[in-house]
Amino acid sequence: MLGEQTADVCVIGAGFTGISTALHLAERGYNVHVIEANRVGWGASGRNGGQLISGIAGERNIGKNLGKDVEDVFGELRWTGHDIIRERVEKYGIKCDLKYGYLDVAIKKRHLRNIEADHERLQESNFPHESRILSRDETQETLGTNAYIGALLNMGNGHLHPLNLCIGEARAAVSLGATIYEQSPVLNIEKGSRPRIGTQQGTVTADFVVLAGNAYHQLDRKLRGIMFPVNSFIIATEPLSEKMVAEINPQDLAVCDPNFVLEYFRLSADKRMLFGGRFNYFGDDPEYIRKRHRAKLARIYPQLAKIGIDYAWGGAIGVPINRVPLLGRLSPNVFYCQGSSGHGVNVTHLAGRIMADAVAGTVEQFDMFADVKPFVVPGAHMFRKPMVTLGMLYYQIKDRL
Ligand SMILES: Cc1cc2nc3c(=O)[nH]c(=O)nc-3n(C[C@H](O)[C@H](O)[C@H](O)COP(=O)(O)OP(=O)(O)OC[C@H]3O[C@@H](n4cnc5c(N)ncnc54)[C@H](O)[C@@H]3O)c2cc1C
Repeated sequence: MLGEQTADVCVIGAGFTGISTALHLAERGYNVHVIEANRVGWGASGRNGGQLISGIAGERNIGKNLGKDVEDVFGELRWTGHDIIRERVEKYGIKCDLKYGYLDVAIKKRHLRNIEADHERLQESNFPHESRILSRDETQETLGTNAYIGALLNMGNGHLHPLNLCIGEARAAVSLGATIYEQSPVLNIEKGSRPRIGTQQGTVTADFVVLAGNAYHQLDRKLRGIMFPVNSFIIATEPLSEKMVAEINPQDLAVCDPNFVLEYFRLSADKRMLFGGRFNYFGDDPEYIRKRHRAKLARIYPQLAKIGIDYAWGGAIGVPINRVPLLGRLSPNVFYCQGSSGHGVNVTHLAGRIMADAVAGTVEQFDMFADVKPFVVPGAHMFRKPMVTLGMLYYQIKDRL
């Protein structure tokens, strides 16, 4: 149901970015309407690996663009999304299996140097959670595989059930007066002093619009060419036996390797192995995804080579070319927020707060992001597949060096 509606703020897209923004606004008393083309969490937010990772992808690029001072301010924001999630899970009683404990694993010597630098940085910033470097032997003991030569254990990062978090936050927003329209693709935005958002079922006229369609929307030509939709794929095995869990991940940690074309895994609450990674594929055939990931999983865990794989799926991640999340304005009252890359669980929660602040007139942090000039690749929306393929190839080669 839509008809002719009015709102203070209309949010387009009900992933983490849109829902987080809507919840921040609803908590402040705004009348928010969210319009979603599919269902709440249908996009990357409901399909992702559920790894709760600190930091904003592209921090180093921010430093290069705007200098060390700004980079430091961004550094201080690294954990803000985590704090917001923790508070919401407690406040609204959201059942999303939130757990802490994370391993950044090293495959090559240069990765070890990077995780040591990260560890030093955590210590210098008085990191309040346990963090320590694991030796090769300790890593092997912790994960039951000899695929890695060391790791950084970080008890501030963790993992969760992403779709349940997104739905829980959407329910919280609705309980505070927000309205969510599902199955209602937005077809056009008439900009002006009170923008009008059009769908087939009706319109919403609002004081402000926040566009949060990420990799899935094609609404405004100004947003083309600054972000690539990169696919990532996940398999979920059948539940593992207690013996197998004790062998491969008794501490229930989320794990991620350091490559750009990376692999990540963790156990679900019902002890399935959720194994994810990127490869060059633009389809969604579960059989194909199973086949590709089974081989990768078996390289790390030969003991799982023949395990049953119950589910396989993929989704699109919005990756800005310089990896810095894209926050900006299309007109004075039409904002956009997209491109949280593979750190989206954390970053979208911070971004939602920044978008709500911007709507309320506090634009300091919003402007910090908006001031980072995006790289533009003309024609990227028309030549996405060959460009993403080339990019993946480039990074695959870089990962191997
Ligand atoms: C397979 C996979 C694994 C990942 N793993 C992790 C991980 O472990 N940890 C991590 O931090 N990040 C991970 N990510 C990235 C993370 O999921 C994203 O960065 C984040 O979810 C982006 O949220 P979003 O709300 O911006 O976009 P989305 O969740 O994609 O939401 C956009 C929404 O907008 C809607 N929409 C688009 N166009 C319209 C329109 N015209 N009208 C109405 N609605 C529209 C879409 O239907 C969609 O629901 C992963 C992503 C994928 C795909």
